[in-house]
Amino acid sequence: MAGNKLAGIGMTSQRTRDRLIARLRDEGIEDERALEVMRTTPRHIFVDEALASRAYEDTALPIGYGQTISQPYIVARMTEVLLGGGQCNKVLEIGTGSGYQTAVLAQLVDQVYSVERIPELHARARKALAEMHIRNVRFQLSDGSWGWKQFAPYDGIIVTAAPEQVPEELLAQLADGGRLVIPSGSANAQRLRLISRNGESFSETLLDWVSFVPLIKGEN
Ligand code: SAH
Repeated sequence: MAGNKLAGIGMTSQRTRDRLIARLRDEGIEDERALEVMRTTPRHIFVDEALASRAYEDTALPIGYGQTISQPYIVARMTEVLLGGGQCNKVLEIGTGSGYQTAVLAQLVDQVYSVERIPELHARARKALAEMHIRNVRFQLSDGSWGWKQFAPYDGIIVTAAPEQVPEELLAQLADGGRLVIPSGSANAQRLRLISRNGESFSETLLDWVSFVPLIKGEN
């Protein structure tokens, strides 16, 4: 088994993952589909080998280039909120990062479109998802604050970096009845929001206080 990163040995064992899931449940995550997908998704392949032993702690970890893989609680929470509205087949993700959130979503919806601005992260995430034999994801290297117009509208849009204000373009690319889950605010006062579209009107629900890396305009 040497060299098989998916095998999951030692600190990356199934038991370690099960403990993480129990913790997410304790923290209030209720979506069983999301929990089951997270139970079987190997988070350690999305971080550097030196950090693999910490991959099942409920914490964000550095992935290089000043970015982080989101905390498992946040991944679970955003997934649960995104899918909480019923039918959600087509999802746009802004901020691929490590690709972990992408992999979780890809196992829960038909098609994921994921945008990242840092070439190295974009390439690494593609590789990790290929390793997991996940094929229903399209990746794009660009500034995601403009969304990804070509495939709009989306039933769900998830943004994993925080802008100060919600980009108008993302609202425009939301399908009728669609849901946008996005952190926004200033660096030390970000709030996770659910924005739901109903025809031409949008309603906002304020959720958890969070701490995300900033959404940066422009390609890298
Ligand atoms: N869900 C990812 C989170 C990574 S951190 C994970 O769990 O691994 C947020 C990511 O958003 C970073 O990779 C960062 O480069 C990216 N990002 C920031 N601004 C962006 C923009 N304007 N367009 C696309 N990606 C962006």
